[in-house]
Amino acid sequence: MPAANLVKKKVLVMGAGVGGCAAALKLAEAGYEVILLERNKKVLAATSNATPCRLGLGFHYMDLETALKYLEATIDFVVAHPGYRVGEDLPDEHPLRHVRYFITKDSQFPPEMIMQGYEQLKQAYAKIVEQAPHKQVFGPPENFFRILDRTEYEHQANSDKIAIGIETQEHLLNWPSYQNHLIEQLYAHPHIKIYTEQEVTDINYADEKLGYEITAKTSLNQFSTYSSDLLVNATWENIEYLNSKLNFPMTKDARTIRLKVMIEVELPEDLENVHHMFFCFGPHCSLSNLGKRRGFLTYEPVTNIGQTTALKVPAEFEKFTSGQATEIEKQEYATKILAGACTYIAGLAQAKYKDIRFGYVITSGTNININSADSNIHARRESGVEKPAVNLINNGSRKLLYMDKNAQEVLEAVNEQVQALELLNAFLGDYTRSDLKKFAQHQFFSADITDENAFEVIKKTVGNKVQLNAYLLKFFSKQATKLTKDTKSESYQKDADNPPQALPQTMCY
Ligand SMILES: Cc1cc2nc3c(=O)[nH]c(=O)nc-3n(C[C@H](O)[C@H](O)[C@H](O)COP(=O)(O)OP(=O)(O)OC[C@H]3O[C@@H](n4cnc5c(N)ncnc54)[C@H](O)[C@@H]3O)c2cc1C
Repeated sequence: MPAANLVKKKVLVMGAGVGGCAAALKLAEAGYEVILLERNKKVLAATSNATPCRLGLGFHYMDLETALKYLEATIDFVVAHPGYRVGEDLPDEHPLRHVRYFITKDSQFPPEMIMQGYEQLKQAYAKIVEQAPHKQVFGPPENFFRILDRTEYEHQANSDKIAIGIETQEHLLNWPSYQNHLIEQLYAHPHIKIYTEQEVTDINYADEKLGYEITAKTSLNQFSTYSSDLLVNATWENIEYLNSKLNFPMTKDARTIRLKVMIEVELPEDLENVHHMFFCFGPHCSLSNLGKRRGFLTYEPVTNIGQTTALKVPAEFEKFTSGQATEIEKQEYATKILAGACTYIAGLAQAKYKDIRFGYVITSGTNININSADSNIHARRESGVEKPAVNLINNGSRKLLYMDKNAQEVLEAVNEQVQALELLNAFLGDYTRSDLKKFAQHQFFSADITDENAFEVIKKTVGNKVQLNAYLLKFFSKQATKLTKDTKSESYQKDADNPPQALPQTMCY
């Protein structure tokens, strides 16, 4: 909980996907005043609404660290939000409560290697459950996954393509239900103001103060401005682009954005209660069964429409994510995905196309060839929370299921930054941008520091509270000499909200 003097800090969250929404709630619950800006008509309507919402247990990541991260995030999420799983009211053995993973004969990795990873995942789950029995939300560890006999799946999947079939305890999040719950919480919270149809187009430093001014374009092409003390950039594919408005260049090879397409189908009657199926590893195919004959399909050679490392997502991608795809284009994707998926699950030949969803997946680096075993798509360890600058925190939720963990990380980052600012305030009273410039010039012995880049320079220290304290103590030593001599610096660092009235002589120049 922030101390009373922090309660009024205003945090502006840009982007209302799961990343922005979960962070907004967390911050508001901790006492911050939150403004949430979203360019769409509705919140939670972009990429976060274009996923089958598999409560991933790590089975489709070859990198163990990535797989474990996903497993832990999913378990913690399910523990924190009981009652939002597809099939939760059905008996445990019901197919809707199990994903079947099929390791294909043309897998990018040898089956033995994959099975070794799965065993490690099972052991990890057993350990989690042993240490915290309430986390046994995916059944007893010995049932975490089991190897299937061919006779158990040959009627549902093309067994000619399959080397090994396993059945896991993984299933799906009931997204529509959880989405409504999240929206209700957001709109009911007294500390959150939500403005939709507000596309952030520019960000500037506020004059004199350490805050920001944000410009947003409405659907009627009018512009509104917002001010805030801190910024959380949760705009997913636009994070780097918007940060560049503050002169934070994107680092070379920072990330790759992939545009993906998934279709919703009406399943034929005999597939109504079929298991979710995932064919791996490599550019393969998945069926997520939502129940009531609704299913989501991906077929990787078609699903990955395109990829970009550009700062700004190309207009030809945005056309799809902003609902501008033509009916012909949609039908074309649907036909190709269905045809591809039928080569794995023959029964899908009777499925009917209902709807299409376009979304982005973001992966660190540029090595993301989906056909390559070395690709970064197999190792995705980042949460997506970063601190690029003073009072600016990125939150690109690299998995839907990371939303809670990321929100906690964002809150900690905001608390840390607010504390650092409180320190500045304590010394400077009503500090100004030129005070900061003086501070930075003095610290870094450079005359090149300007009003604008002073932020850039001191951001390096703000991330580390103790280090920043030390800098501040030194820099403001002149003021400090006016104060009493004997207060200890340790007590100052321990109690940032109540800075002492004196600084030790040893810290002075
Ligand atoms: C096909 C597919 C399948 C997936 N499957 C899974 C899965 O099974 N399980 C899982 O955990 N994850 C899955 N994911 C990943 C998951 O969807 C993402 O990690 C997650 O949704 C990202 O959330 P976000 O809030 O960061 O992004 P978004 O949901 O995209 O939110 C960003 C928001 O910012 C808004 N915005 C952007 N620019 C601006 C601007 N300039 N001004 C104002 N607002 C702006 C957007 O409109 C959007 O609402 C999948 C993704 C895809 C595409």
